[in-house]
Amino acid sequence: MKLATIGVGNAGSKIIDRMLEFEDKTGRSLCRHVLVINSARTDLAKPDYVPEDRRILIGDTHKKAKGHGVGGDVEVGAEVAKHDIDEIRRAFDDVEIHEVDAIIVAAGLGGGTGSGAGPVVIEELQKMYDEPVYGLGILPGEYEGGRPALNAARSLQSFVQKVDNFIAFDNDAWRSRGQTIEEGYEQMNRELAVRIVTLLAAGEIDETDVAENAMDSSDIMRTLDTDGVSSIGYASTTISGDTDDGLLNRFREDETPVGDATDAAKIKGLVRRAVNSRLTIPCEVTSADRALIILSGPSELISRKGIESARQWLENEADTVDILAGDDPRPNASELSAVVLLSNVTETPRVDEIQRQAVDAQDKIAELEAAREEEINELITDENDELDPVV
Ligand code: GDP
Repeated sequence: MKLATIGVGNAGSKIIDRMLEFEDKTGRSLCRHVLVINSARTDLAKPDYVPEDRRILIGDTHKKAKGHGVGGDVEVGAEVAKHDIDEIRRAFDDVEIHEVDAIIVAAGLGGGTGSGAGPVVIEELQKMYDEPVYGLGILPGEYEGGRPALNAARSLQSFVQKVDNFIAFDNDAWRSRGQTIEEGYEQMNRELAVRIVTLLAAGEIDETDVAENAMDSSDIMRTLDTDGVSSIGYASTTISGDTDDGLLNRFREDETPVGDATDAAKIKGLVRRAVNSRLTIPCEVTSADRALIILSGPSELISRKGIESARQWLENEADTVDILAGDDPRPNASELSAVVLLSNVTETPRVDEIQRQAVDAQDKIAELEAAREEEINELITDENDELDPVV
């Protein structure tokens, strides 16, 4: 697939940057256009791979932002994007839309810029183009507290209503012990980039190289075309050196013909590992509406029989007949990877938890606001209320 990629806010921009890094390292060319949008000047300086002229600052003339960000306020995030919508639109104008199959907008939903400006950006893109617009959204961890949960629960509604598909990533599920928050984010961003790029870059290889079973961009787009929330599973095995199951060493050593029953079972095993791995958002696999399996690596290592049996296995597992499976031939890849897209998953416990946390936070914020007003009044009013204000 060929994509226009847009990062909104700090997390969104970092993820786009890691996608560009991963495609650069693996010789893919998925992201044909890139743009990052932020209300904080300092965050705009962070990306390593996004060209300088593809970074735009919004809200620098807005009284509550002034180039310093929106302080985690989702309303201000939306306001600055609306205020600077002409500038955003001009940046889109540079996108040669006939060159791309789809547009993806990445954002962290717990802050102010990504969660507030993200849906405004998407709304504009949907007005301007016929191509599908996908959201890639990061859900905040429970440990972040009530405000990020409230931002995320509200922003999730806007994102999902406006995009053609919302690919979710749950920070809670991916948090590891013994890491600083920044180290954790760095690792999560890389993991997410590998999954997104491996999934969406399938089908970009030119026709001459295409294997019989090659996945096509239109297959991926069809699976994503559900208007719902998606989760991605992934597993890989190294081709040279030590592999955890010896699959590819065996291919090397004795040149076992592709299609051999044992190796088909190993391909199926890799796909099963992907589905049973930590998904980008934990979910009930049976709640998926559609699914897609892609095997990415040297085509001589991808057994047709393996792909078919993996597809059949997932059909049973996910309890849906709408499953596509194919390969993404990468002759020089150092790994064989399986990526599984579960589209329109409806049972995701983390979303329910965030909503509960958000409702509690909203109640607490309302209580605190009312109490604060009363306290201020008490402070400035004399004991017997004998004094009047000047004006
Ligand atoms: P914004 O710039 O106002 O949109 O705010 P940020 O993007 O800095 O943060 C929004 C939310 O994204 C936070 O509440 C975190 O949950 C999450 N977040 C921030 N940075 C990262 C990151 O690098 N990786 C991941 N996975 N999540 C992040």
